[in-house]
Amino acid sequence: MNSLVQVAVKSPVYGLFDYRWSGPEPALPGVRVTVPFGRRQVTGIVIGSIDSTEVPAGKLRSVRSVQDQTPVLPGDILELLKWASRYYHYPLGEVLAAALPVLLRKGHVASIAEREYFRWQPHEEESGEGGRQAPVQKRLLDYLRQYDGRPVAVDELRAISPRWRASLAPLVARGWVVCDTAMEVPRNAAVESGPPLSQEQRDAVTAVRGALGSFATFLLHGVTGSGKTEVYLRSIEEASRRGLQSLVMVPEISLTPQLMSRFKRRLSGCLVSLHSGLNDSERLQNWMCAAEGHADVVIGTRSSIFAPLPRLGLIIVDEEHDGSLKQQDGFRYHARDLALMRARERQCPVLLGTATPSFESLNNVRAGRFVELPLTHRAGDAVPPGMGLMDIRRRKLIEGMSDRLFDAIREHLDNAGQVLVFINRRGYAPTLLCNDCGAAADCRRCDAHMTVHARLSRLRCHHCGAERPIPCACESCGSVELDRVGYGTERIADALQAEFPDIDIARIDRDSTRRKGALEKQLDRASSGQARLVVGTQMLAKGHHFPHLTLVCILDADRGLFGTDFRSLEHMGQLIVQVAGRAGRESREGSVLIQTRNPDNPMLQTLVREGYEAFADIAMEDRRLAELPPFSFMALVRAEASDGREAHEFLKQVARSLQEHSGGQLDVLGPAPAPMERMGGRYRAQLLLQSDKRSSLNDSLSRLCVRIGDLPGARRCRWSIDVDPVDLY
Ligand code: ADP
Ligand code: ZN
Ligand code: ZN
Repeated sequence: MNSLVQVAVKSPVYGLFDYRWSGPEPALPGVRVTVPFGRRQVTGIVIGSIDSTEVPAGKLRSVRSVQDQTPVLPGDILELLKWASRYYHYPLGEVLAAALPVLLRKGHVASIAEREYFRWQPHEEESGEGGRQAPVQKRLLDYLRQYDGRPVAVDELRAISPRWRASLAPLVARGWVVCDTAMEVPRNAAVESGPPLSQEQRDAVTAVRGALGSFATFLLHGVTGSGKTEVYLRSIEEASRRGLQSLVMVPEISLTPQLMSRFKRRLSGCLVSLHSGLNDSERLQNWMCAAEGHADVVIGTRSSIFAPLPRLGLIIVDEEHDGSLKQQDGFRYHARDLALMRARERQCPVLLGTATPSFESLNNVRAGRFVELPLTHRAGDAVPPGMGLMDIRRRKLIEGMSDRLFDAIREHLDNAGQVLVFINRRGYAPTLLCNDCGAAADCRRCDAHMTVHARLSRLRCHHCGAERPIPCACESCGSVELDRVGYGTERIADALQAEFPDIDIARIDRDSTRRKGALEKQLDRASSGQARLVVGTQMLAKGHHFPHLTLVCILDADRGLFGTDFRSLEHMGQLIVQVAGRAGRESREGSVLIQTRNPDNPMLQTLVREGYEAFADIAMEDRRLAELPPFSFMALVRAEASDGREAHEFLKQVARSLQEHSGGQLDVLGPAPAPMERMGGRYRAQLLLQSDKRSSLNDSLSRLCVRIGDLPGARRCRWSIDVDPVDLY
């Protein structure tokens, strides 16, 4: 057979590549092929057959070999990825590569690893068995015989002799020993059943159950500790009972080890996880379990949205408001939005769960696109924590904390309570300032101050990772009068330890949990109640359950009030409510104290007095008046170069090109410097595109993509397109 195929190859070029195909059968879309690409041989994915090509016959090259008999990317995933490539304006070859496990990208065989077992087989010739055998052979045979025909794993045989395989071969040939293979599919058995559901939980499960087999989007809007996870578990059980696979996406599994173990205690069947904590072969293994239909439940981070699932029947997105569901570099997709797309194609329900819905989702509820399932009460006897603002203007502060805050902490500790202190900054102090000349120790590659890390005796840039020792003298004037200004988790932990010397403190931030197993250890100390003071960053907002916690103190809430990004306020509200939600989750009542210099701020007051929904109502109305998302649609074109003028010049060309071709349906703002203009030694600029019609934005970007690579400035900078950016950084 002689024909033509289109192949996607991982390359920054938009478009596909045509090759000659001479296989006996037509090329199957979704199979991997080896193709010549430039001077290399690379792995590509067949997209489909074509009738003609613009490549001249002399230049047309042939597919070298076919790697798969069945497609590694089945039709539905291929369609989802094609759609994502068009929607996010990212080259299809790169999109496909991002969806595949690394080993498949490298041409590894797409199959579940098989494990070998050996067993003894009763046989004639017993008499001849003893004498003529080599000692190793005899030991192996004796060992297998004592298991009486039950399979023995390779590890045990290897322990007998490193030459076990060679010695066993003649026995296998004679039929005295049999080799079996079995697929390595993990099986889980539930060891716990759940509590009886509340009426609201039951209503939610009933709604999801009723939607199995059709497309529907539910927003499970439940206050912290209301038992959302319980609703997920029951919905998954029902899906499994009907032979359907469930996909559960969580923002960061590595930050929530408790969640995975809870799923394992409660669900039977084949549970696999997909996240960055796995090594390449574990990842492939789990991916294949999903793709071949063995897995009943897949729990993963955002990229699991691309895992093939032939029996998919339910998608759950936990903490749907969380920014980490959006990929922030390369292929910048939003896993929640793709989940909706995938569910629509697959005709299955999606359950988005959160205590603090994104404004996008709230807007979708109002427009009737999502069905809201409310859980308004905490599960069991727990009651919502009381929240209070603590005015710190003109008050004496000790290390950033007021005397009244210390009193409150002491009172809780004296009453056998547990206290969490939240400050969203790691390190000791965010700035090292000279008392004589006023200069700060700055990063040499970013427009940013270096953070003081006292434990390491180093300065670190939190933007590019640069570090150097803490200087003894000012880098500008040589003065030794250096002040550490501002507060981070290290400093707060030190101050609390000085005040409460007998109390065990757990610090939870990215620095204290970098080593493998360190996070689990800190979380254990916090949830067992051993550490009665817990200090940490937003890592603490991630759905952890600390049963003994009675007081939550939020130190730097004001920062969110004055953020540069239009989403700052939304994020501040979500963070405060999530952190506050760690308090009083069991029988003891919890309270929350928020230190502020803006006690009269209406947004802060609404949040504290009336709750997240009332807060969101007002903040969303502001967005609507300002015509900002979710009431309009946005994209960013970013450019960076070692010379700032080049990034700027290129974006001007982009802006002109967009204006020429967009017919007035699109607002083009900029170019403007990025909020942090210089980062990692490069200058960054951005162009903001906005439209009240998604289709105009999308069409303009499609037309831009055809030309952008040919704009004169394109070669001199690195550029990217970000559709629905969550961060205008
Ligand atoms: P969320 O996911 O909304 O934060 P969880 O599902 O983690 O809430 O539930 C919080 C706590 O309440 C957990 O310890 C859970 O076992 C318990 N719980 C959930 N539902 C119920 C229920 N119906 N009755 C009693 N306890 C429950
Ligand atoms: Zn100085
Ligand atoms: Zn830096």
